[in-house]
Amino acid sequence: MYLEWLASPHDRYTKGMQRQPSAPDTGHDDAKRRTGAQGAGRAAECSPRPRLPRFILLAAVPLTLLSLTFVLYCADLLEQLHSARLELQGVEYARKLQHTNMALARLRGLTRMRAAGDVGVESQIAVDRVSLEAELADVLADPAGEAFGLHGEVLEIERTLWQELDRPAAPDSFARLTAQIDRLRELLLRTAERSRLLLDPDIDGYYLVTLLVDRVPSLIESIGQLRGLGAGFHVAGAMDREQLSLVERRVEGIRHDMAVVGRMVRALQQAEGRSIEQRFDASRDHIEQFLAASLAIATGKGPDSLLFFELGSEAISLCRGVCREARALLVSLLEHRIDRLRTRLGLGAAAFTATLALVLFLFAAYYRGEGRFIRRLQELATVDPLTGAGNRRAFDEALARQIETADRYDRAFSVVAFDIDCFKEINDMHGHEAGDGVIRRLAGIARETIRHPIDRVYRTGGDEFHLLLPETDLAGAQGLAERFRAAMAENPFDDTGPASISLGVAQYRRGEILCDLLKRADIALYLAKRDGRNRVVASPEEPPA
Ligand code: GH3
Ligand code: MG
Repeated sequence: MYLEWLASPHDRYTKGMQRQPSAPDTGHDDAKRRTGAQGAGRAAECSPRPRLPRFILLAAVPLTLLSLTFVLYCADLLEQLHSARLELQGVEYARKLQHTNMALARLRGLTRMRAAGDVGVESQIAVDRVSLEAELADVLADPAGEAFGLHGEVLEIERTLWQELDRPAAPDSFARLTAQIDRLRELLLRTAERSRLLLDPDIDGYYLVTLLVDRVPSLIESIGQLRGLGAGFHVAGAMDREQLSLVERRVEGIRHDMAVVGRMVRALQQAEGRSIEQRFDASRDHIEQFLAASLAIATGKGPDSLLFFELGSEAISLCRGVCREARALLVSLLEHRIDRLRTRLGLGAAAFTATLALVLFLFAAYYRGEGRFIRRLQELATVDPLTGAGNRRAFDEALARQIETADRYDRAFSVVAFDIDCFKEINDMHGHEAGDGVIRRLAGIARETIRHPIDRVYRTGGDEFHLLLPETDLAGAQGLAERFRAAMAENPFDDTGPASISLGVAQYRRGEILCDLLKRADIALYLAKRDGRNRVVASPEEPPA
């Protein structure tokens, strides 16, 4: 239906015209006169432009579809952009959490030494506490923590930490600080999850590497702890079965992490086309040696504590190197993705604007074209082709409007009905074409006589015309009619000789309906004919018997 509507505006308007009740060709039938009021309605229908609300509706459908597509496209891009930014924030936030974790691990070692009775560590604890405070302040200042809803938990950890450190040394201090480290590690994981990093195999390597970095010192520390030698690395004697299985589990955990990290590092490398794989392989070899040494030491068969310590330190620093590189890669990947999304968004906006402009342009062209077509139709429907004067339809419409104006503003206006005298004879004697010439010339003289375009001339029948004279009372109309009659009578008419006209004049009476006014003008015209033609007769007050 919509397409049909769109496809043939011409048909639509033509049909619209055809559906109108046709005005009579000749005669002054009352019923038909009454259609004058409806004529005004038709005039509104046939305004010189397509009706705007329908037109807007026509334009609105494709524009809405276009806008909707664009909005969906933008929403998708913005969502992707948001998540990429979140991931970028997540990388930075996780790095800060990781640093805090490290600082906390150092403090945990010192606390354990304090709990074991080492009073010399108090000043070191104070120094580490200051650095941990700075780390936590940094984590809390990061907007990503706010975005991930983690600030509350960090504050809680901080509060527990200071409570713990302000207590006197106790054997379970170490365990309580360990619990805080575990909570922080959990936050680290959650950061990765909330920034959706763990969902993307390309970019979650960094987080697993950071976990690995965290695992190695915890293994070193746990061996030291199990051996009952404080947080240091002085290993002596064999472990019992339970202690051994703990070390084995930790070693196994690190190996598992390394396998996963290896996969992620390869994925990262593929995604970015750079090589961190060799570095990771090197660190893995080293970590393997360290793990073997850890197991050997735990079973009492291994190298000495110094080698264990060196291997551990090396493993940690290699892991950190891989970790830093993985992080740099992640950041560049995410920045690259953000740039790409911004470009796509810009291109999308440009394409949308261009398409919108094109659609609006096409519709404006269509609207203008349709307006021209309607104006042409309106001209065909309202103008008499022989004389260029308005036709009966135009007269009906103009008269209905004039009555409305006169009623509303209490203004005078008059109508003059006139008809060529004995026109049949002219036709018969000189032929139809000569008769047409007389009709044309008559219209021309009428236009020259009236105050065009305030006054208008209409051809309302074969040789019958009407003048519509706004702001003109009966006397004025009579004067004009008389001048017109004289001009007509004096005109030589080369082909046919002089031709006269008879005229009937009527002034509008307030409240009178259209057909009564015309009837009075017709009666006056009839009286002019009856009284010998070639004369002007004003409408009598009462219709003659
Ligand atoms: P009257 O003085 O009573 O008006 O006599 P009349 O002969 O003019 O009679 P009437 O007005 O009834 O005749 C109108 C004639 O006009 C009838 C028709 O042949 C002729 N006519 C109508 N339309 C046209 C037209 O477009 N061209 C020409 N040449 N003649 C037309
Ligand atoms: Mg006539």
